[in-house]
Amino acid sequence: MTGGTMQRTESLSPQGLGAALELQDVTYRYRTGRGQVTAAGLGPLDLRVAPGEFLCVVGPSGSGKSTLLNLLAGFLRPQTGDIRLDGATVKGPHPRLTLVQQEAALFPWLTVGGNVSFGLRGLSRAEQARRVADALALVGLPEMAGRRVHELSGGQRQRVSLARALATRPGLLLLDEPFSALDVNTRARLSSELLEIWRAQGITVVFVTHHLEEALELGERVVALRQGEVALDAPTTGVSLTDLQAALG
Ligand code: ADP
Ligand code: MG
Repeated sequence: MTGGTMQRTESLSPQGLGAALELQDVTYRYRTGRGQVTAAGLGPLDLRVAPGEFLCVVGPSGSGKSTLLNLLAGFLRPQTGDIRLDGATVKGPHPRLTLVQQEAALFPWLTVGGNVSFGLRGLSRAEQARRVADALALVGLPEMAGRRVHELSGGQRQRVSLARALATRPGLLLLDEPFSALDVNTRARLSSELLEIWRAQGITVVFVTHHLEEALELGERVVALRQGEVALDAPTTGVSLTDLQAALG
């Protein structure tokens, strides 16, 4: 059993190392259609995430969680400050990181395997097939590559989008409320699977949720966002639900 796990770890994440993330004095403010700066957005924010760390970011709706992930993913550029991945400034979408959204954005006209291999088109067919098989096994959907997306349950779809992200072998995995559209049992199952994958792969994870309990259960560390600023940043072992509630006002 141990041998199998080792092999998977090696095959999916050859360097075995999560990426280091560093945000320094980052701000982002949305503009109106007329180009006027609004108060909505994020920052100023300083944050470091260590290689292999599992960080949960929590906060109410509108607190800037998705803005943060879109900045990290390179989809938005900060107006001030610097975001560095393994020491290099993030200037746009980056092959070392990948973002999983709340609703699995799968292509209905592709099979499960076609969806998982979507980000792998530069690789040989054999390598793509190997990565698809590895990633689907990792999320508990082996032998599902030929299935159609519309045959899948919500939980299975979210597993497929996780597999699609893992198949790119990211050093940093960003998840934006990935399980919040699922029922309680499915969410619990996927959460513990995600933890297993994280342990086996050694990747860095930034997991965004508005569920305070979920953040405390999953993360090694929790950052609470309130109106775009850090209201609390602490190891989850030292934080209670009441602490989080108090920090978020
Ligand atoms: P969360 O993910 O925590 O719910 P967001 O990062 O989506 O929060 O939003 C943070 C703030 O920025 C909110 O006030 C929201 O209304 C605003 N906002 C988000 N996206 C846009 C946008 N495209 N244009 C203008 N304002 C936005
Ligand atoms: Mg959001």
